[in-house]
Formats: sequence, structure tokens, C-alpha cells
Amino acid sequence: MNNLKKNVLIGFNIHPLWLSGTDLESFLSPLRDNGLRSLEFEVDSNLPGWEQFEPLMESCSDIGMEICFHAPYRPHYSLYDFCGIRRDEICNINKPLWSLADSWGVRNNFRTEIVVHGATLHQSHPDSSTFRSQEESQGKVTKEKLREDTKGFITWALETFPNLTIALENLDVTKPGVIKFGQRREDVLSLVTEIDHPRLGICWDMGHDIRHGVTEDPSKEWLEHVVHVHVHDIDNNGEDHFPLVFNKVPNEHWIQLLMDAGMEGTITLELKGGNLINWELERINYALAQSIKTINEVIT
Ligand SMILES: [Zn+2]
Repeated sequence: MNNLKKNVLIGFNIHPLWLSGTDLESFLSPLRDNGLRSLEFEVDSNLPGWEQFEPLMESCSDIGMEICFHAPYRPHYSLYDFCGIRRDEICNINKPLWSLADSWGVRNNFRTEIVVHGATLHQSHPDSSTFRSQEESQGKVTKEKLREDTKGFITWALETFPNLTIALENLDVTKPGVIKFGQRREDVLSLVTEIDHPRLGICWDMGHDIRHGVTEDPSKEWLEHVVHVHVHDIDNNGEDHFPLVFNKVPNEHWIQLLMDAGMEGTITLELKGGNLINWELERINYALAQSIKTINEVIT
């Protein structure tokens, strides 16, 4: 039973802002004491403070942490129309960031996972807006097209970045004007099984399921395809990506199902620091350590 433990790491989605007013070792020390072993970095060169990301990866690695990734997903990087005229553009803007992640695939001791979102159409975004409005007015933008774009991109990425394991995420509910592929479990699972590659699986975002009102346990097939997990809690206003203090998401029960199914991969506590701006520092630190501890108690 215990040999499963080494195949599952607990991660945290770090950002340089978490270190304002402290230093890396002081921040990580209570989390590592509770079982934290990996740090997940969003790679998006448009993020504020991007120049601090790579040095932070190095510092984390220097103290023995594994590094994993969240692929760029904001509107500039959308995979929309990968199977149309945007293919080269999408390859070019994603390549440097994915190459950075791929280089860690050689350096890490653990398999290097990268989470990817399905193709998303942001109807208000200015890029290619004329093209988009033509298509939309002709009613061509369907989930089927977004599925094909997602499939095309993942197939390209699997070939181009041999040191990465790709995890396709079940996505959150959309804002008006946004169409996404991959909000339903069945859509994510069917694409992953269709591509059927040893370095492709599911990123199960448990909180997103609850935001969609999906509370039932997933199928055995789903559990067997999960290679990465995002856990977080939902507050009393329905906002997600909080520490595990509200008990709105059955994270522990679902992680246990994954352990019983023999999952290997990283379970990342995925928080939005901006959600906690009104919390006292002590409360934040306590909630973070407790959240890591909660996950660790299930996997050990
Ligand atoms: Zn997520």
C-alpha cells in the first residue's frame, strides 16, 4: 500500500507574489513538513512578474522540489482555430513556453506534467476578430470544432515535447461570450481515450465538477486516466480556488478513489492568492499547511 506514496506527489501552484514579505524557504518549510513535494508554475510570458518565474523555478529545484506546469491558457494563447489558419501562430507563441517546461522534463526526478485547457473561443477578444465574427455569424463555431482544435494541438505537443506528460483539464463554468471545449467529464475522457497516448491523461479539477453541479463519483475509466489533480475549495459565495476550509468539494473522498485506482501523478493545491487578500496572514499560513496535510493524510 505504502509504495503507492512515492508515485503521488503533492503540489502547490506557486507565484512569486506568494513570497512578498517572506522568503522561499520560510514560505515552503511548513508546507514541506506536511508533505509538499512539487510546485506548479503557470507559463505565460504576459503575466506580471514573469521575469521572476524562471529564477524561482531554479530556487525551488535547488531545495529539492519537483517542478510541474500549467500551460498558457489566457485569451492570447487560445488554441481556437488550431486546425484552421491560426495553427502556425499558435505553435509559435506556445513553443518557447512549452520548451521551457520540456527542459524541466529532463531535469526533474519525477515525471513532468503540464496541464492544458481545451480550445476556447473568447468572442470579445480582438485577435482575428473579423475572421471570428464571420465564422460565428455562419454558425460554424461548434464544440466539435473546438474539440478538433484541441485534438490537433495536443497531438502536435506530444510529438514536439517528448519530456512532458500532458493533462487535459475539465474546465470551469464559462463567462458569457466564452465557448470552451472540455467542461464535461465525458468530453475530456473521450478525447483523451481517442488520442490514446502514454503521455496523455486527465487533469481532474475537483472544484470545477462541483461548480458544474456534478457531485457523483466518476467512472472507473475516468479514474484510470487521471494523471494530475487540481484541488481547491469553494467559499460561501460560490467562488473557487480557496484553501480546503469550506468542505464544499469532496476532495478527500475523490482522492481516495484515485488512490484505490492506483493513480500516479501530482495532486496540486490550486489557489488564487487574490481570493485571500482580506485574510490575516496567520490564517492564510494555517489554511495552506492544513490543506496540504489533509491531502497528505489521504495519500499515505
Ligand atoms: Zn484547475
